[in-house]
Amino acid sequence: MCAAARKGPAGISTIGIHGGYSDDQPGAPVVPPIVQSATFMGGANRTDAILYTRYGNNPLQLSVGQKVAALEGAPAGLILGSGMAAIAMTILANANSGDHIVASAHLYGATRALFEKELPKRGIKTTFVDAMDGKAWRRAIRKRTRLIYIEGPTNPTLRLIDPRPIAELAREHGIPLVMDATFATPANMRPREFGVDLVVHSATKYMGGHSDLIAGCVVGDEEAVRAIDMTARLYGPAADPHMVWLLDRGLRTLDVRMERHNRNAGALADWLEAHPRIRAVHYPGLESHPDHALAAEIMKGFGGMVSFVVKGGGKAAGRFMSKLRVAKAAPSLGGVETLVSQPRYTSHAAMTRAQRAEQGIPDGFIRFSVGVENIEDLKADMDQALRS
Ligand SMILES: *Cc1c(COP(=O)(O)O)cnc(C)c1O
Repeated sequence: MCAAARKGPAGISTIGIHGGYSDDQPGAPVVPPIVQSATFMGGANRTDAILYTRYGNNPLQLSVGQKVAALEGAPAGLILGSGMAAIAMTILANANSGDHIVASAHLYGATRALFEKELPKRGIKTTFVDAMDGKAWRRAIRKRTRLIYIEGPTNPTLRLIDPRPIAELAREHGIPLVMDATFATPANMRPREFGVDLVVHSATKYMGGHSDLIAGCVVGDEEAVRAIDMTARLYGPAADPHMVWLLDRGLRTLDVRMERHNRNAGALADWLEAHPRIRAVHYPGLESHPDHALAAEIMKGFGGMVSFVVKGGGKAAGRFMSKLRVAKAAPSLGGVETLVSQPRYTSHAAMTRAQRAEQGIPDGFIRFSVGVENIEDLKADMDQALRS
């Protein structure tokens, strides 16, 4: 864990490039070096700031932790070995046996499974709330509720929850509001500006940005992040130094990549909405999206994820996917390359067809993580695949 510098540049690009590292002695490397070492000299003194990589105090872990904190406008940040590590450690640091969590029903699959299957074994119960029902949040709070957990924009229908009233409710009860903002990134939304206490990310996605690493981070106030850090030191999901170095490189271009992701996804969403083979398009930047007004208010850009439903159901979706040449069929998202998947085979495979349909994910539903390729090539690729 590391406290972010409180002064200094405020722009996302500038922080992404310069944040967290300030060695400007003659001969110092311009790029912070990987320190591929498990352990460090010292240890005679328990307060040595740099000691052991599982503790998260490898120099690069510290400086990149500072960088993500600054990107989110938070005092402290911590890099961990995966998004799920960041989520699990955040929860375990805040909830004990007998405690209760209130969570949005719209969650990443593994997060949902953590709440539903894993935490009950540890004596922690979760009440899932239909995130779009404003009053349900208050009704779900119990005496032993220790945190509220939301995600946004959500996978795969890209719904957006207004964090502000939920943050107010959390503050009233003296508990933290945690938000997974993986799909947004600090380039498009900074949840702390809306009262969120702890922001978690799968940095595997846009923050790393090149589909070549697994990483997670959490940012928040110093005390809260320190508690998560102490939990992680015991469970052990530390970030590997080489991964952190790659993540740092990804963060340098986060803002410019997001600009292109936003632009490409917006253009594709418009184009798809007018396409005769398409039944429905989900994109927060479209006026037809149920949360468009909220997204326009709290997001700087609408993101790189676009979902749509092809006419002809599952069969047509399968044919379309098999004809794509530029876009690659694969799970995950947020990389420079366009990735395409059908939630019914990936994130939502455990549900029945009827359950999926109820959540707005009928057969024929396709999720696009729109990359930063040239938009003409993406459109041409999709057009030939849709027409075949
Ligand atoms: C991928 C993802 C996660 C999990 O992150 P990993 O890095 O795979 O552990 C959590 N939340 C969201 C929204 C994700 O997309």
